[in-house]
Amino acid sequence: MSDTILEARNLTKSFGGFVAVNGVDLSIARGAIHAIIGPNGAGKTTMFNLLTKFITPTSGEILFNGKDITRRKPAEIANMGIVRSFQISAVFPHLTALENVRLSLQKSLGVSYQFWRSTKVLHELDAQAIARLDQVGLADYAHLKAVELPYGRKRALEIATTLGLEPELMLLDEPTQGMGTEDVGAVTELIGRVREGRTIVMVEHNLGVVAELADTITVLARGEVLAEGTYDQVSKNPAVMEAYMGV
Ligand code: ADP
Repeated sequence: MSDTILEARNLTKSFGGFVAVNGVDLSIARGAIHAIIGPNGAGKTTMFNLLTKFITPTSGEILFNGKDITRRKPAEIANMGIVRSFQISAVFPHLTALENVRLSLQKSLGVSYQFWRSTKVLHELDAQAIARLDQVGLADYAHLKAVELPYGRKRALEIATTLGLEPELMLLDEPTQGMGTEDVGAVTELIGRVREGRTIVMVEHNLGVVAELADTITVLARGEVLAEGTYDQVSKNPAVMEAYMGV
C-alpha cells in the first residue's frame, strides 16, 4: 500500500469570481498527524470542506488510497473510512455518553433492530462502548447526558463516537477551539492517544497544539501553499512569519 493516504492535486475552489483555494497540492502520509494552518481567510475551512467532500472543487482531484473521490458524497467517503468530526457533531445531547457511543457502534456495525434486541449483542455493544469511553477518559462519565458534560469532555465524547466508525482517516476541524488551557491539554493528549493505527488531518489555530502533535504542517496563505514541513521548519520560514505571524 502506498505511503500516501490522501492526495489533493491542483485543487481549486472559486466562489463567484473569488478564488478561495488556488491550485493546492497536498499529500498526506499514512499514519501522520498533518496540520493545516494559516492566517484568517487563508482558505483552511474551504480546504477542509473540500477534503471532506462538503463542497465540490471547481477543478482538481482528490485521491484516497489512490482512488479518485473528487465526486463522491460525504456519506460515501465515510463508508470508505474517512470521518470528519466536530463541526457537524454526531452527538445527541439528551442521550448519555454510553448511549451515544453505543449508537455510533450500532451504526458502524450495521446492527439491525432485530439483532440489536438480542441480549448477547446488547452486552457486547455495551462492553465495546465502555472500552471506547475508557479510551478517551470518559469511563466515569458514562451515565451523564452529553449535554451535562463539561465542554472538553464533550469533545472527548465526539472523538469516541468518531472512533466507533473505525476511521482510517480522521479529519478534525479546530479540535481545541474555544477551550481553556486545561481542556486544550486534555484534548491534545487524547488526540495523541487515538492516533494509533490511523491518519489525522486537522485544521488548528493553536500553534502549541500543532507543535506538539503535527508531524507535517501545511501553511496556507491567500488560498495557496506558502510552506510545508515540520513545526521547526515552517516556524523558521521568513515567509510564514511574515504572512502568518505578522512579524
Ligand atoms: P480560513 O478558514 O483560512 O479563515 P476560509 O476558507 O474560511 O478561510 O475562507 C477563505 C476565503 O474564501 C475568505 O476570503 C472567505 O471570505 C472566502 N469564502 C469562503 N467561503 C465562501 C463562500 N461560501 N462564498 C464566498 N466566499 C467564501
